[in-house]
Amino acid sequence: MAKAFVIDVAKCSGCYNCQLACKDEHAENDWTPYAKPQPLTGQFWCRVTDHTQGTIPKVRIHYIAHLCNHCRNAACINAAKNGAVYRRDDGIVIIDPEKAVGQKQIVDSCPYGAVYWNEALSLPQKCTGCAHLLDHGHKLPRCVDACPTGALMFGEEDDLADYIEGATVLQPESGSFPRVYYRNIPGQFIAGTVYDPKEKEVIIGARCLLNSGGKRWEVYTDEYGDFWFNDLPVGLYDLSIQVPGYEIKLFENLRTRECVNLGDIPLERKEE
Ligand code: SF4
Ligand code: SF4
Ligand code: SF4
Repeated sequence: MAKAFVIDVAKCSGCYNCQLACKDEHAENDWTPYAKPQPLTGQFWCRVTDHTQGTIPKVRIHYIAHLCNHCRNAACINAAKNGAVYRRDDGIVIIDPEKAVGQKQIVDSCPYGAVYWNEALSLPQKCTGCAHLLDHGHKLPRCVDACPTGALMFGEEDDLADYIEGATVLQPESGSFPRVYYRNIPGQFIAGTVYDPKEKEVIIGARCLLNSGGKRWEVYTDEYGDFWFNDLPVGLYDLSIQVPGYEIKLFENLRTRECVNLGDIPLERKEE
């Protein structure tokens, strides 16, 4: 049976414990035949990236942990000579630290940038799935064990089926078929604040209708006059804001390549 990682982005607090734990486990520790020591600087086999969406004051931030995807169709295996990269029976992909010496092409082969070059050892290096721990009775890799929120999960792929269902993988177009699955990566949002410029008051309960390609979303402004349409796919959207007694406000062709903060939106009262 194959192992898999599941990373729930909604549960990630951005504490970087996983990144630090991986460093602690592998930097200057020789786990041959799984891996030679990771250098103290320049390599992050577990790497947390932060992502800021929107503009002030409608800003959201999320964090994503990255590691080797232990791909079913691993470009690094294909690029290696002499079987220097191999897949274990449990699905974990390992760079053999003896056979891979001098094989810099392995670094370039990975579509995820998960392989680092150790100049001093002339060696490509990456996440080992902490196979040295798993083979000695440990249930979890260090990064997963260090995660305080349960954002990182690891186990038999079949046992994680409920979490994998509906999850996504990074760069599916690469055809790598990763064994690292991601849940709840936020999509784009469209947001704004609706107010009455004469009263200088926000408008609560304004009906906001969003349309794109025949699909429709509806939200109402909250007690701050704010509305949010969350987790939108990239596309073109038309928005109308309707409040009884006010002129309808229209926004056409809003593009969600990035999140859209429409800012403060004045609504004019209809003529009596
Ligand atoms: S993520 Fe990169 S290094 Fe890891 S298995 Fe896939 S191709 Fe190989
Ligand atoms: S599984 Fe081990 S080697 Fe891989 S990122 Fe986690 S701690 Fe680092
Ligand atoms: S340890 Fe868990 S919560 Fe902290 S950054 Fe890593 S995945 Fe996120």
